[in-house]
Amino acid sequence: MNSKFGLDRNIKICKVCLMTNQKPYSLNETKNSKSSKKTGLGFNREGICSACSYHQLKEKKINWSAREKELLKMLDQYRKNNGEYDCIVSGSGGKDSSFQAHILKYKYGMNPLTVTYSPILPTEIGLKNFYNWIDIGGFDNYLFRPSGKVSSVLAKEAFINLLHPMQPFKFGIKMFASKMALKFNINLVIYGEPYLEYGSGSKKENSFDKDFYINDEETVYLGGLSIQDIKRKYQWITDSDLKSFMPIKTNDIKGKELNPIFLGYYLKYDPQEIYYYAVENCGFEPDTQRTDGTYGRYTGIDDKFDWLHFYTHFIKFAIGRCRFDASQEIRNGHITREEGIMLLKKYEGEYPKRYLDDCYNFMNIGKEEANKIIDSFRPDHLWEKSQSGQWKLKEKLF
Ligand SMILES: [Zn+2]
Repeated sequence: MNSKFGLDRNIKICKVCLMTNQKPYSLNETKNSKSSKKTGLGFNREGICSACSYHQLKEKKINWSAREKELLKMLDQYRKNNGEYDCIVSGSGGKDSSFQAHILKYKYGMNPLTVTYSPILPTEIGLKNFYNWIDIGGFDNYLFRPSGKVSSVLAKEAFINLLHPMQPFKFGIKMFASKMALKFNINLVIYGEPYLEYGSGSKKENSFDKDFYINDEETVYLGGLSIQDIKRKYQWITDSDLKSFMPIKTNDIKGKELNPIFLGYYLKYDPQEIYYYAVENCGFEPDTQRTDGTYGRYTGIDDKFDWLHFYTHFIKFAIGRCRFDASQEIRNGHITREEGIMLLKKYEGEYPKRYLDDCYNFMNIGKEEANKIIDSFRPDHLWEKSQSGQWKLKEKLF
């Protein structure tokens, strides 16, 4: 019998890092309906996850100076020397977008336009980093914020139907850079790390499969509902309200060139080094306190919804923020697997108390109702209720 989300009931844990086969692959989110089934992270015969296999390849087999030459050659094709923008970097001033925009402009002499799809509920530190990115880093920026009235409804539906309140936002943000590129006739769109880095996604190494950003199907899903159902349920919502969440169609790019690339294909990405780079060059600051659910202070700190997002991920897949952070740091050699396990015991699955009320208020959901929804998404192969009525994981998963 299949598990709740179609993932393997037989749990595998990577021998190198701490990822499990319950990690779902990224999919084109506008095709994600209530009943969609997912495939999990792949493992090889030695019990090593595909994120680690990719990492080993990155460490041993890739000639990074050759890759940088490849990057320069590619950038030269798009470089404009007439004062116009020649590439787009999308971000909100986190460590990754800071690094990307800065290195492109100041090391490789490009003219990036930075664009920002606003976090659903920006944090104070996130806003500070956003302004530092633009003002200290030194870039031009377009900031776009979709209607809060509409975002609130979509986040709520996504929470109820998918237990994925950021799903409509994630889709909006993924398309945003390409839409802005089309608007401004910029042909090169820069993304950060290849999805392969985390063991999911594209078959191509240096850019997206078209399938990831183009959806020509008539039925588009947002928050687990079809557009028709959303408009039936919320009659005040118009097509224009939903425009920033809608996918790009083949017709939109007809006769235009759009080249989305992963900078991480060309340059070796180490999140910790990128953090130091962002601090040094763009005034990036870590959070003032540890993030609920993990031990770090500088990843995914710009949106109050990130806290809830990782918690829901932990409920559905038993993979929370700490497992992501620790696995990545084990791979990059900053901590050992044993240290990672210690951290998991301490922080994994911690209740995201800091901004939870803000998120529930924004979605107009009461705490009790929210808890009921959360519990209904716990797969029975991962969770059980103890005699005292507490939910706990059936296995330790390390
Ligand atoms: Zn692994």
